[in-house]
Amino acid sequence: MREKIVAGNWKMNNDLAETEELLSKLKLQMVKEPEATVMVAPAFTNLYATFQALKDNPVIVAAQNMHESEEGAFTGEVSAKMLKSIGVNTVILGHSERRAYFNETSATLAKKVDTAIKNEMKVIFCFGEELEDRKNDKHFELVEKQLKEALFHLPKTDWSHIILAYEPVWAIGTGETASPDQAQEMHKHIRTLLHKNVGAEVANNTSILYGGSVKPGNAKEIFAKEDVDGGLIGGASLNAVDFIEIVNSF
Ligand code: 13P
Repeated sequence: MREKIVAGNWKMNNDLAETEELLSKLKLQMVKEPEATVMVAPAFTNLYATFQALKDNPVIVAAQNMHESEEGAFTGEVSAKMLKSIGVNTVILGHSERRAYFNETSATLAKKVDTAIKNEMKVIFCFGEELEDRKNDKHFELVEKQLKEALFHLPKTDWSHIILAYEPVWAIGTGETASPDQAQEMHKHIRTLLHKNVGAEVANNTSILYGGSVKPGNAKEIFAKEDVDGGLIGGASLNAVDFIEIVNSF
């Protein structure tokens, strides 16, 4: 059985006090053993406090990014070792906002993925097409290219570190979601690509999350699809009640 995962990407929201408030609401309201693995990804400045607050809790703390080098003169950057030293073993890589605003290319992402795996971290790898690609019927091709360039060099044994998150750019923060059928169609395509390029076992075992305007009102229908193993939630993860409802949507 593939792992079901609901992860909250808090992006550049919440200072320390707001983070602590959200965490205490989550801890109070979350059922003890949700069916899905739950993850939250706060900003760097709030990672340590979040990890400490969730120490006796199954919720996993993830970072939103890291640098591809082990260490060195990279002002403003954070390394895998730094994350691991505060208990953070999971990192989101390749988010469309990093690709669009911080010029992250597939070549850089391939290096970041390698560095994360070398440091025994789990990666939530994000990818997805823009509206233009979908309009031109290029979305399947584009997603294949993104996966090929950043991930298909990995040996089979490394894939236990990878969680995939399909996030169509046109659905992020827009209130417009892919329909459950559109999500399923793409997730199936992704699983077929995994089968072809890495093998049946990896295709069956890799969790593929959907991200893009997931809300309490649409999560159930999306998560019910065969190849959708959960969600990467932006806006709705900043509200404890909404996030918990999404977590309980399996
Ligand atoms: P929204 O849920 O706000 O659309 O964001 C999705 C996302 O980018 C998660 O990484």
